[in-house]
Amino acid sequence: MKRVVVIGAGFAGLAAALRARRAGADVTVLEALPRAGGKAALGWADFSSGPTVVTMPQVLSALHERVGLPRPHFESARPTTTYSYADGRTFAPGALAVEGDLDGTLAQLSRTEGQDYLRLLRLARTLYQDAQDTFLFAPPPSRTALLRYALTRGRRASPGRSLASLVQSGPYLTPFWLRFATYLGADPYRAPAVLHNISWVELGMGVWHLNGWAGGPPGQARGLGALAARLAEHAGMLGVRFEYRTRVEHLVHERVAPGRRLVYAAHTGRGVFSADVFVSAADRDHTLGWLGAPPSPRPLGLSGFALQLRLSEALPAAHHLLFSQDYAREWQELRAGQLPTDPTLYLHLDGDRAFFLVNAPPRPELGAGRDEYARFLLWRLQERLPLPVREWRALSPAEYARVARGGAIYGSAPHGLAGALRPGWRLGSYDNLRQVGGTVHPGGGVPLSLLSGWNGAGELLSLPYDDLGGRGPW
Ligand SMILES: Cc1cc2nc3c(=O)[nH]c(=O)nc-3n(C[C@H](O)[C@H](O)[C@H](O)COP(=O)(O)OP(=O)(O)OC[C@H]3O[C@@H](n4cnc5c(N)ncnc54)[C@H](O)[C@@H]3O)c2cc1C
Repeated sequence: MKRVVVIGAGFAGLAAALRARRAGADVTVLEALPRAGGKAALGWADFSSGPTVVTMPQVLSALHERVGLPRPHFESARPTTTYSYADGRTFAPGALAVEGDLDGTLAQLSRTEGQDYLRLLRLARTLYQDAQDTFLFAPPPSRTALLRYALTRGRRASPGRSLASLVQSGPYLTPFWLRFATYLGADPYRAPAVLHNISWVELGMGVWHLNGWAGGPPGQARGLGALAARLAEHAGMLGVRFEYRTRVEHLVHERVAPGRRLVYAAHTGRGVFSADVFVSAADRDHTLGWLGAPPSPRPLGLSGFALQLRLSEALPAAHHLLFSQDYAREWQELRAGQLPTDPTLYLHLDGDRAFFLVNAPPRPELGAGRDEYARFLLWRLQERLPLPVREWRALSPAEYARVARGGAIYGSAPHGLAGALRPGWRLGSYDNLRQVGGTVHPGGGVPLSLLSGWNGAGELLSLPYDDLGGRGPW
């Protein structure tokens, strides 16, 4: 039986472990934290501490089916998010796939804004559809695949053009369109135009709330943290061994032929784990460090400063985004490595819990003033959207640095065309090692991290590529 070591029990590591186990391998997962979930598992244990926007539910459902779990129960978020501006204006768009039309969304916009909205949404759909077969639901693209994309679809992706020049749409809708690039850790003013495709995932295909599992009572477990716990529990039942509180320190490897190296063992604070093949589902730069290689020379993408909030009353599930007065200025501060003085506030309400987040530079040292900045954020929130907060806990870039180099949520910044192309699953000449997860192909976010883990492990075990039902006519 093939022995597989998976490093990291985030979404990608869980998917990798499940795929390998389903293929009959003997699987051990090494995880530094005391529980599964990775970026969703920091802070309070009963709370998701990172991902809250559930997209591409088909991928999550397909994964459940493949591993023999009942499907999760999804409720569509209507509206997708409520956007509030500093002058009091609000905009609450619905997703096309959920609403069936855009009438309710367009009714909130002026004629010119509405025309722009339709034009930019169509363009986002085109970019998304163009990217699907090469960059999202396929193995990391070969040179030939890249060339084919460039020749057939590349011009539509406006190479050489910035996102900021593409989505100029007045004082309200420009920041609205720009913000989607943060879903991949980009500074929207440095992102390439092609990242406009991300907005289609939310505004075209929809946003969902995860609410229990088919056959179980709704509300039995909510949020993506609960999903990770469920996948880990199931993997354990299938025979995957989880070694928690086990931090990998380095990987032992050797050259076996010119241009070919093999990894033999993972050294951890709790002993040595050897295997036939290794899947690293931790941050790519961490893996490079364990191999004795330098980190990627690319600049790091965004981190976050978050608060978990316990509320004294239950509120309906909803997403809110409260824009700062001056979005461009906020990004100047972030670019200068500072926590914003007037940040855009993101809030996810879910019963008697809320997750509250602002963008932050990837600088763990900013955690030193954690409580002071957290109190400032709470004060800003209460000014604009008062909530009955009973208790809070802050998670600064220092906490996110426990699971990602510099606390950069998505690894290197996707700036410029080359930056937007995520690194592949192979690391140099290591034949029996694959790098998966949100810092590599096909990209960050929970569904893509699951796809990465499922298929990166699949490739190592010579299993066919499986798009987990993700590719569609959307
Ligand atoms: C604040 C925030 C908000 C987000 N919002 C959303 C959202 O709304 N929707 C969405 O889809 N996505 C969102 N994301 C992104 C999403 O959470 C990630 O892309 C995804 O969770 C990445 O999963 P992963 O398995 O690749 O990595 P991780 O979750 O980082 O897992 C890596 C694991 O490796 C472990 N590890 C690291 N080093 C070692 C070591 N030396 N030894 C052993 N184990 C180690 C870590 O402890 C961790 O458990 C958000 C992320 C954050 C932080």
